[in-house]
Amino acid sequence: TDIQELLLSRIRDVADYPEPGVMFKDITPLLADPAAFTALTDELAGIAQRTGATKVVGLEARGFILGAPVAVRAGVGFVPVRKAGKLPGATLRQAYDLEYGSAEIEVHAEDLTGGDRVLVVDDVLATGGTAEASLELIRRSGAEVAGVAVLMELAFLDGRTRLARALAGAPLEAL
Ligand code: 5GP
Repeated sequence: TDIQELLLSRIRDVADYPEPGVMFKDITPLLADPAAFTALTDELAGIAQRTGATKVVGLEARGFILGAPVAVRAGVGFVPVRKAGKLPGATLRQAYDLEYGSAEIEVHAEDLTGGDRVLVVDDVLATGGTAEASLELIRRSGAEVAGVAVLMELAFLDGRTRLARALAGAPLEAL
């Protein structure tokens, strides 16, 4: 579509970042273009509304930039999922495996409750490890998963397959 072409045209490929052999998808040109950023926000907010989301969870850090305006546009709350050690209140914490080693993410326990339906928003789905851990946090909070919505899916890494079990039938939408 025209919107997909606009979005794609504002994503910059950066070779060998953050390490040799990786082609990094840089979204900062898209953020700097008001037409593209607005179109992206509207598309993601439409997904939030169609999936009946009551909260948007944004994944640190680019998921904050995309998720916050999506929540405002959709008229729902925004909840940050942060790298461990950054949230001051009582949290749920989830570990997940990286290519080398592991990482942990956290959410404030009181921000997600049994009545919530939660849409996870991030910029890029790569291996799916981060999104999978966030879905596990949502499940543990007692909230329901409305889905995962990302700007871009790196399909060759097959994060979609890794997420299938945690999605439990909820949609994964990649613009
Ligand atoms: P995953 O856990 O799916 O392997 O990695 C996804 C996380 O890493 C996301 O939070 C995403 O922001 C970041 N990420 C991985 N690769 C890229 C990339 O090429 N471009 C951008 N912008 N983010 C990436």
